[in-house]
Amino acid sequence: MKFNIHAGHNPDGKVACGAVGLMKESTEARKVVDKVITLLEQKGHTVYNCTCNNGINQQDVLKKIVTKCNMHKVDLDLSIHFNSGRNDYEGDGNTTGVEVCIHSRTSKSKPYAKKVCENISKLGYKNRGIKIRPELYVLKHTSNPAILIECCFVDDRDDVDLYDSKKMAQKIVDSILY
Ligand SMILES: [Zn+2]
Repeated sequence: MKFNIHAGHNPDGKVACGAVGLMKESTEARKVVDKVITLLEQKGHTVYNCTCNNGINQQDVLKKIVTKCNMHKVDLDLSIHFNSGRNDYEGDGNTTGVEVCIHSRTSKSKPYAKKVCENISKLGYKNRGIKIRPELYVLKHTSNPAILIECCFVDDRDDVDLYDSKKMAQKIVDSILY
């Protein structure tokens, strides 16, 4: 199979680098992207890394990502993000968890989204399920079936304690090769 994958924001230290909490979205998303690519290539799949490292603002990052994605006809586009907004820096024993966004209820990517939620939740994360987000730029403008994965929360101690980029990558790969 063929895949596009990207980290959703600029690198740490630049503008538009994403969420920051107990860990940094930009940095962790890149680790997951690299590990997913390695795992898929080991199995003989073709993977294009469409990450943008030089956007001048958030909109520019997104435009550059979409341009790269749409250069390749693939089975699936994967956008790797981490969520924030929980603000649980102490840890209350409950993860806030994983969610996967798709463009519409009828998106071809929906079965993949479901699998990713199920598999990441097997690591111990709460399954927040599939979110229909037609307004998200990457989902709206990419031509291939696409999923946007919010792996877990950067500002929840429970999510961060459980987090391991290698395990996260493995679960994503298990989900898209099912
Ligand atoms: Zn993000």
